[in-house]
Amino acid sequence: MTAIPRLAIPLSTGALAGMLARLAGGVGRADDVAAFEHAFAARYGRPDAVAFCRARMGLYHLLRNLGLSDGAEVLIGAIHVADFVNIIRLAGFTPVVVDLEPDGFRLDPGDVERKLTARSAVLIATHLSGYVHDLAALRRLCDARGMVLIEDCSQAFAVTFRDRPAGLWGHAAVFSLSLLKSVCALNGGMVIAEDAALVARLRRAAAEQGPARRGGLAAEAVRNLVIKATTQPTVFSLAVLPLLRLTAATGDGFSRYQKTNKTVALRRALPPAFCERFTGAQARLGLALLADLDSREARRKANGRLLRAWIHEDAAVRLPPHCDDGEPGYWLFPLVVAEPARLKAFLAARGIDSSPMLLAALSAEEAFRDLGFTAPNAERTRAHTLFVPMYPGLDEARVRRIADAIAAFQRSG
Ligand SMILES: *Cc1c(COP(=O)(O)O)cnc(C)c1O
Repeated sequence: MTAIPRLAIPLSTGALAGMLARLAGGVGRADDVAAFEHAFAARYGRPDAVAFCRARMGLYHLLRNLGLSDGAEVLIGAIHVADFVNIIRLAGFTPVVVDLEPDGFRLDPGDVERKLTARSAVLIATHLSGYVHDLAALRRLCDARGMVLIEDCSQAFAVTFRDRPAGLWGHAAVFSLSLLKSVCALNGGMVIAEDAALVARLRRAAAEQGPARRGGLAAEAVRNLVIKATTQPTVFSLAVLPLLRLTAATGDGFSRYQKTNKTVALRRALPPAFCERFTGAQARLGLALLADLDSREARRKANGRLLRAWIHEDAAVRLPPHCDDGEPGYWLFPLVVAEPARLKAFLAARGIDSSPMLLAALSAEEAFRDLGFTAPNAERTRAHTLFVPMYPGLDEARVRRIADAIAAFQRSG
């Protein structure tokens, strides 16, 4: 029986190899960027979208172009790519961390209320693992207070709330196009917004970015190829999972390789790599993945729905709460587990790989200690989260194997 790797790289080997070959000749053409932006915008019924070199830079330029006053506060959920805290500060504003609901991944409405002040200007709602927020409620709250709602849809590309896509409920939305994202362009961040004048300002900001270095893109293509090769089922079964099991005592080596930002620091300036243009070569990768995005995400959601139905919660294994009006997209499949290390080992012994949370609990990061963040629920949930495999290519038999193994773990008490 072959093992089930924790993840699947969405880009094909051919696309990645083609990218490396193309990079030898240059970074591609601006019209490919425009075509990708238009195709992306069209999915959301927007006239335009703007691509940046990273989602966090999309957020940076959004924040700088909203006309916020000095000292404005930007509320952000407590489990996030840690660098978003730096981005808010470097854009000139004050990050305020909001705790998440108990055992779950959406903002805790009670903590949102507690953290609001007269200076609150922006609320970022991040749909972690595709667990969509009650977007009607968040939009109402923001409109009532004159705040801007920004959705981070990096983990929610084909997710709806009340039949309307996540990404259209906020005044603006950012989508990361980085490693493993449903539309991956090696790196990148797409921004859509309601206000056409805001989009025009973002377009000017994007045009002011510097040229992209090919080295960085080539390195990212190689990283995708390495992860793709090591998660190929036979290689993974015979070599990678046995190695991970042998070295489990020293932590999860795969996560360490996968993780882009290995250390978190308080930045004083934007690194030069964040001030590069999104390239035509990347746009072609993105366009290829946009073409079958909906069918891939439909398969992922069908798998997620099955697994969710087959898991019976108990004190040892819980499922995160979700909205009645919005089905999760299951970009990842998180379990909240009393003893995650024990479940990880139990699954690995049955050929099922799993992963801890890679994102930071912002309130627990040493680098942010002086920023006064508090989020006890999120810290606890992060420590108890285990992601089991969930991607479009899983078949029903494998989903069943995962569910059966979790049930066996629960019986093992
Ligand atoms: C992957 C991811 C990002 C990455 O942002 P980049 O700036 O593009 O690296 C941001 N937010 C979330 C929720 C993500 O999952």
